[in-house]
Amino acid sequence: MQFERLSNNSAALIGCLAWIPLAVWILSCVNWTITGDIDVVTGIAGIAVALGLGYEAINPPVPQLAPLTVVAVFVTVLMFPFVRMAMEKKQLKNIDIEHLEKAYQSLGLRPDNVMAKFRIAKVLFDLGVCGHAVRIAESLMPQMPQRFFLDEHRMLRRWQMTHLEARLFSPIPCSDCHGMNAPGNIFCSHCGAPYLIYFAKGRVVGGRLGKKLVATWISFIAILIGIPAAKALPPALSVLSILLMMGVAIGMTFMAFRDTTGGVAK
Ligand SMILES: [Zn+2]
Repeated sequence: MQFERLSNNSAALIGCLAWIPLAVWILSCVNWTITGDIDVVTGIAGIAVALGLGYEAINPPVPQLAPLTVVAVFVTVLMFPFVRMAMEKKQLKNIDIEHLEKAYQSLGLRPDNVMAKFRIAKVLFDLGVCGHAVRIAESLMPQMPQRFFLDEHRMLRRWQMTHLEARLFSPIPCSDCHGMNAPGNIFCSHCGAPYLIYFAKGRVVGGRLGKKLVATWISFIAILIGIPAAKALPPALSVLSILLMMGVAIGMTFMAFRDTTGGVAK
């Protein structure tokens, strides 16, 4: 009797402790959904799964699942820093895109602005469009004497010394006219569009690591907790809910990992 009460107390304590990481996770899911880092469906699913886990931790409808709940909460704690890092990386890239757009704007006001052109090359290099960045910077050097632009010359030499794969120098298609542009063009050589902005944006939209991690987490919890929990239901309902959960898990993972960008996106 005494022991039972003690183990009940410790189970309740563990249940309450589980709410701390889950609350952080739920607030983060709300935040990521508002900022658009994850879509609304993934956000709501993430919040629902966390609420379900919290309920299961405090008031287990199926007591045998308690150890699995602890594992699920532990996985949530482990996932958190990785998802956060992925989201922060994406935000930094969005700032880079803003810088790129600003540099193009200053170029619109003064088409011979070599500094704006060099800024475009620098942002492109940071975003991983390295081959095109190097060629643009190289084309600017005759207009940028080394004694006035020492930093720029040093930066270009550093870029040239990094080993860049050949594929980074392959032409980029313009999303307006579909013409191919060899590295070194700031505007599309066929229609004059700022095709590199579209290309860089497509790459950032494609970097959906955070969303992939959240979807994988939802699938993992659904399989870990959902399927054993469903076994406790009457047989017909049990089969139905297991099939439903497998469907949700496979669907979420498929949607998150499907490549929708294809390299170029506006
Ligand atoms: Zn074009």
